[in-house]
Amino acid sequence: MLIFANYFGCIMQRKQFFEAFDAVIQTPKRFVVVSHVNPDGDAIGSSLAFAQFLKKMGHQAEVMVSNDFPEFLAWMPGACNVHIYDKAPEACDELLKSAEVLAILDFNHVSRSGLVQNTIKELNINKILIDHHRDTDFDQFLCALSDTNVSSTSELVAELILHYGERYLDESIATNLLVGIITDTGSFAHSVYHPEIFSICAKLVDKSVSYNQIHRLIYDTFSEDRLRLLGYSISNKMEVLDEYATAIIFLSKEELAKFNYQVGDTEGVVNFPLSMKKIRMSVLVTERQGVIRFSFRSKGSFSVHELANKYFNGGGHTNAAGGTLTCSLEAALEKLHQVLPEYKDLLNQMD
Ligand code: 5GP
Ligand code: MN
Repeated sequence: MLIFANYFGCIMQRKQFFEAFDAVIQTPKRFVVVSHVNPDGDAIGSSLAFAQFLKKMGHQAEVMVSNDFPEFLAWMPGACNVHIYDKAPEACDELLKSAEVLAILDFNHVSRSGLVQNTIKELNINKILIDHHRDTDFDQFLCALSDTNVSSTSELVAELILHYGERYLDESIATNLLVGIITDTGSFAHSVYHPEIFSICAKLVDKSVSYNQIHRLIYDTFSEDRLRLLGYSISNKMEVLDEYATAIIFLSKEELAKFNYQVGDTEGVVNFPLSMKKIRMSVLVTERQGVIRFSFRSKGSFSVHELANKYFNGGGHTNAAGGTLTCSLEAALEKLHQVLPEYKDLLNQMD
């Protein structure tokens, strides 16, 4: 019954969203599409594809994020046109102020927009949302497509575009959307919640550059330093806590510097400990400028969102979440060890 209610709720939400969105795009408008700080493949992929679709529909659309994205996403069609707020704050502020609609993609709390948030908070502007995170405040938006039962925001953008017809897909849009779906599902290893994702992807693969090429461009781009940092992280810096079915990898800023850390170099490191059968949760703790970053991953029903939200000023999804603390690396690790006993039973229930 609950499944039916959710399913029905999703259909209703889509119908309402499609109608409201259709009303928004009836006349040409200036859109700015904003995604989250430390953008990942889904943030950039969904935003670029959505902006490219809006342009096809006769609108102006620019993509903006707080800070730069990893080098392994730089090849994405249109990536060179993304406005990076911390590189050009004045120009970005101008763009935001001249926009008529702000599209918020792949996040739902203003604080997640990083440096862009101060200007957004001041803007009196219509906002639309397309996102797959929890706890959305719908009142903030002219129209919102928010569904936690999809793999990614890119999947939602694909649904929206396909609602208008396959003729609106082109090579750039399809490629960008596939990057978002592939990266948010770990190449279809998790976050695949319903079979329709494969029919959507079949249509995307049909229009995109070759699937094998996309995969290679995302994943086979390591520098030697990045691969050695991965090896070092696992063999020297991984603590395995059998009692809690948990593995923790921690890296200081000196260690990152030793491997010539570049943005994105620790991406994916947190997934490796989960490949151990006995591990239910994996945590990567890294020391960044002034803050400690946490990346959480889990298997099955154990919710790292709950843990990240309760203790680490963050959140995300059931199986992938992040957070930050402003303290030393030692204090951050101590806090993590302190909270684990509360979750001991849940962590030991493999499902
Ligand atoms: P990652 O570990 O790859 O940085 O993030 C995993 C997931 O958690 C992503 O979906 C991301 O959007 C979300 N996330 C990461 N950091 C934060 C955070 O500080 N706050 C919230 N609410 N979500 C986060
Ligand atoms: Mn996402």
